[in-house]
Amino acid sequence: MKPQASFKASTWKSWNGLKEYSYSVFHAPTSSAELQTIVAQSDSLRVVGTGRSSADICGGCAELLSLHLMPDFYRYDPVSRTVHVGAGMMLSELIQRMERDGRSFGALPDIDCITVGGAVSTGTHGTGRGAQSLSDYLVSITIILADGTRQVIDKSSPMIHAMQVSIGLLGIIEQVEFATVDLFTLALKEFPIDDRQWLSTWREHYETNDFLRLLWLPHTGFGYAIIGNKFTGEAPFTEKKAPEWHRYRRDVSSFLYSHSHNLPFLTALANQILKRLFFSSRTRKTGTLYGSTVTKSRGSTLELAEWTIPFDAFNDCFKDMKKGLSRLDNHAYAHIPMDIRFMDAGQAWLGNNNGNRTVTVGCVSRTPAHADSYRAFGLVESVFLAHGGRPHWAKRFKACRAQLQKLYPAFDDFVALRRSLDPACKFLNKYLAGIFG
Ligand SMILES: Cc1cc2nc3c(=O)[nH]c(=O)nc-3n(C[C@H](O)[C@H](O)[C@H](O)COP(=O)(O)OP(=O)(O)OC[C@H]3O[C@@H](n4cnc5c(N)ncnc54)[C@H](O)[C@@H]3O)c2cc1C
Repeated sequence: MKPQASFKASTWKSWNGLKEYSYSVFHAPTSSAELQTIVAQSDSLRVVGTGRSSADICGGCAELLSLHLMPDFYRYDPVSRTVHVGAGMMLSELIQRMERDGRSFGALPDIDCITVGGAVSTGTHGTGRGAQSLSDYLVSITIILADGTRQVIDKSSPMIHAMQVSIGLLGIIEQVEFATVDLFTLALKEFPIDDRQWLSTWREHYETNDFLRLLWLPHTGFGYAIIGNKFTGEAPFTEKKAPEWHRYRRDVSSFLYSHSHNLPFLTALANQILKRLFFSSRTRKTGTLYGSTVTKSRGSTLELAEWTIPFDAFNDCFKDMKKGLSRLDNHAYAHIPMDIRFMDAGQAWLGNNNGNRTVTVGCVSRTPAHADSYRAFGLVESVFLAHGGRPHWAKRFKACRAQLQKLYPAFDDFVALRRSLDPACKFLNKYLAGIFG
């Protein structure tokens, strides 16, 4: 069968413009059969979602494929309380459909303009007590393997834990089935909290609240806590909105950091200004998990790194990171905020919460073009690696295969499975070949 929608050779660019590759064919299949034919016939193929990953995991193959023209597939099964969805659907669309059916995920990432396939493939996660990644909520997965065969893998197969986070290396995910929970409302409180205080209380907050997220404000001595609990409406809860000007936070950050680039020590001053303007007030709000905690629009692009560490190792790791970022001789100043989130242990072989309750720490460069000279990335990576931390697969890191291999008990099993399912290496680009080839 001839694929119906293939575009001529051109160039693919990631969302923030830092990755750029030419390709010879761009496929956009419109049916399952067509997708199978493309996969079977191609020698070098990667799927792209919205290209929002900072890691080099999308392009770099001769042929690219997008699922955006596949049939719009969504079904809620009220008996199993699971949703079945096409992997090309945007997460925003999926969540809204689930809410109409009275369903929610147990946790959500702080982004909705990504594809379901991209989120699942990279272990995209949320935060809170018992929170996990969307991959951890998988009940079954329908995948097109390298030889073009279509397989449904469910929890009865040990392969499900390899498939959960597979970075497009084991096949093309066509559909997934997720476990869901009843739709709930959260009552959230947001407030500044100094470093000493949150470092000594975060575990207690994690145990006693349904939702916990901390926006750490490097070079200020403060964080900004977001704590929430399920809200039934029985007890009174008075809302308190953030000041109007808070909606300019990202614009002001981008402006200040574009100027601090040449004189990195000014980052510390920029952070003090941003803290005063945007992270000093106490607010209270209610809403669904999606409505109250997920950012819906992002005006500017970013370059992101994220590192993860077991609960027990976090405080020491954080102290070393803070010490490193405070040194005056290394120019490793970090932008606001560094997002600190909390996940329960999972079983995905490449999940960064595999086997451990895990704290995740984000590191962001507000100006993607300056990312290569943004020294905080290197500093944070070296501290986390020294403490046994794992990187987020979708985000920026430099650790090599030998380092990563030590961090995941099933790393070699994943590589062996990848080889057996894709012996001709059609799903590997150069970056991924360096790690999993
Ligand atoms: C502003 C911003 C905020 C973010 N917030 C969070 C967050 O809160 N939590 C978090 O964990 N992450 C977060 N991320 C990371 C983000 O969730 C991942 O980068 C995600 O993969 C992006 O989805 P995408 O559709 O753009 O995927 P892409 O970047 O296009 O692809 C990611 C990978 O998935 C593969 N892939 C995509 N679809 C399929 C498929 N159908 N079958 C097989 N492989 C596939 C691709 O080949 C690629 O390897 C954030 C990123 C940004 C830019």
